[in-house]
Amino acid sequence: METNQCNTPVNLAPPSPSRVGLESNPQGTIVNVGGTKIGGTDIVIIAGPCAVESWEQLFETAMAVKSSGAKILRGGAYKPRSSPYSFQGLGEEGLKLLATIHKQTGLPLVTEVMDTRQIEMVASYADMLQIGSRNMQNFPLLKEAGMCRKPVLLKRGMMSTIEEFLLAAEYILNQGNDQVILCERGIRTFETSTRNTLDLSAVPMLKSLTHLPVIVDPSHGTGLRWMVPSMSKAAVAVGADGLIIEVHYNPDQALCDGHQSLSLDEFDRLMTDLKKISHAIGRDIYL
Ligand code: PEP
Ligand code: MN
Repeated sequence: METNQCNTPVNLAPPSPSRVGLESNPQGTIVNVGGTKIGGTDIVIIAGPCAVESWEQLFETAMAVKSSGAKILRGGAYKPRSSPYSFQGLGEEGLKLLATIHKQTGLPLVTEVMDTRQIEMVASYADMLQIGSRNMQNFPLLKEAGMCRKPVLLKRGMMSTIEEFLLAAEYILNQGNDQVILCERGIRTFETSTRNTLDLSAVPMLKSLTHLPVIVDPSHGTGLRWMVPSMSKAAVAVGADGLIIEVHYNPDQALCDGHQSLSLDEFDRLMTDLKKISHAIGRDIYL
């Protein structure tokens, strides 16, 4: 076996088949997020604000998305903002608000972790760790998340190929954690009319290559509130196992991503339509 500069043995031979490859679990992996299972027949909707802003905002939004049928609550406490002067999230205070709402609603939580130094703390509040698009190839973060034994929601890097996406997931599985959900959230192309180009072909492609559940984020994928319902329906129709959708009780006042957040009523109407589409393809969404 090869040795590295410290003379410790290194085994760089990839496993065959790869850990993310469909052949290593042809029946498909079911990821259990605090009791909600993703990857089976049921389609799971994750919803909530882009960022946790206040108790009132979180409470109103969480109660509404739950009664419309969302099964997991999203909400960022650590936000990867392009500008250092934009709202960066409430940090641990935001996680505490999430923990309180979890107690009240029973909704499992997914929230982003941006730094290896935060993993233990974020994992003590969250049912699933989100690794965002900008960190998809932060290899130390992927390895730490793999060691943490919490489910991981891995978002596709905005400039990453399907192969790079799967290799990023492989880092997590290689640490012994197979509880990974892949999320298509749009890629950068020459097109500027949408925030990103939502690559819905990634869904059937990933499904043909891996046993991991695949979900779609139509909010970041389009950046346009009015387009979120149609792309959500299309994502379910092409076989996504779930969606992650930004919803805000007052989108026009949101501190982050209000322009792509659905109002509570818009989300409720979308859930009714999604139920019809899921039935048409032999799946279900519990409302
Ligand atoms: C998010 O979901 O909060 C987010 C920042 O998304 P992305 O990493 O896909 O940009
Ligand atoms: Mn957002």
